[in-house]
Amino acid sequence: MLERLENTSSAPFSGAELARLRNDFPILTVPGRSGEPIAYFDAAATSQKPQCVIDSLVQFYGGQNAAVNRGTHLLGDLATTEFENAREAVAHYLGAQPEGLIWTKNATEALNLLAYSLSAPQSTARTAGFKPLGPGDEICITRLEHHANLVPWQEACKRTGAKLTWLEATEDGRLDPQNFERINERTRILAFTHVSNVTGALSPVADLVARAKAVGAVTVLDSCQSTAHGPFNFRELDVDFAVASSHKMLGPTGIGALIARPELVDQLPPFLTGGAMVTWVEMDSATFHEGPAGFEAGSQPVAQAVGWARACEYLQLVGPERIAAHEHALGEELLAGLLEIPGLRLLGPTTMEQRAAVFAFALPGIHPHDVGQLLDSKDVAVRVGHHCAIPLHQHFGVRSSARASVSLTNTSAEVDRLLAAIVETQRFFG
Ligand code: PLP
Repeated sequence: MLERLENTSSAPFSGAELARLRNDFPILTVPGRSGEPIAYFDAAATSQKPQCVIDSLVQFYGGQNAAVNRGTHLLGDLATTEFENAREAVAHYLGAQPEGLIWTKNATEALNLLAYSLSAPQSTARTAGFKPLGPGDEICITRLEHHANLVPWQEACKRTGAKLTWLEATEDGRLDPQNFERINERTRILAFTHVSNVTGALSPVADLVARAKAVGAVTVLDSCQSTAHGPFNFRELDVDFAVASSHKMLGPTGIGALIARPELVDQLPPFLTGGAMVTWVEMDSATFHEGPAGFEAGSQPVAQAVGWARACEYLQLVGPERIAAHEHALGEELLAGLLEIPGLRLLGPTTMEQRAAVFAFALPGIHPHDVGQLLDSKDVAVRVGHHCAIPLHQHFGVRSSARASVSLTNTSAEVDRLLAAIVETQRFFG
């Protein structure tokens, strides 16, 4: 595994450092269709995994596997210890407290948990700390949201009679503080993305939180696109809830988390019910665990938690500031190159100060699926489609786009390959 890089600085990686880091990712040597290693620009969909994360799964299943929280045997103890240590490690990396970290299947489930619990009737609330939503209340989201942070709130509105409102995007796909008057005294919940998975736009979190606090609204941050790309600190962001996804952070699929201010956890009614989340059950009633365990029904994703914790350790070793600097520098190169391609339409801000290195673009007259296929033939992997953000694509007047997203392992040479392949695509279809 990678030895600690010089992560006290905030400089981009040197060539030697990047080469060492890339060595940790076995998939980067897999040949593509033409035989060249694949230039992977699809980390916004899912990240690749370093060897230490892959090894952690094998080690867990080979030496510690058992059901957690129930066995009286050694393996049960080992697995439970690993599971709870993982909660601490992931919480620590995210600047949160383990008492406020609830494991879920993915970030989508975490958002569903929250939307469901916050829209439950008072009678099911455990401590009734959150006044039930009803007609006259508003849940405010933004035009930028992934469907995961949109549809669950639509459903919450249907259940309660609350109204869904949203902050519109600017022409270049950002949130503009000028429009924040939409957040008003009727707003009970403000749910917004940290970084758009389409435009890469960075949300003005501090402004949004201040506005929500001024009207007494609960804040929910979708941090799927930020936690693996630089420093992230739940406490400092000062939101009430956030969601994160392991598979976007070099960790395994099958696990995500709802992060809450710990004092809010026991104010939420449970979402999934059944085994493991109960303290006692009668034929006609049950009592529930306090804390995260009260939301973790059924058998748990233990190996995934262990793998996610290892991924967080790895990110910490590499250094979040250095990852941010590297991706910013590559983002500058890629952005400059994209803006120089005649006819290419970038969906999103045109300066790196306003965005992360996630670039959705359209080539007029060429279907994004054709763009994706041609890039694939050059062993350049991008995502095509609506990226689970149809309303944002409607805002731009397009049905879909191609998206190139940068991660810690990308190189300048790969950026050049991507840009050359886009130009080649235009030529091919021109
Ligand atoms: N929110 C954003 C901004 C995303 O990019 C994604 C995944 O693409 C999600 C939510 C959903 O994450 P998960 O795959 O963990 O459900």
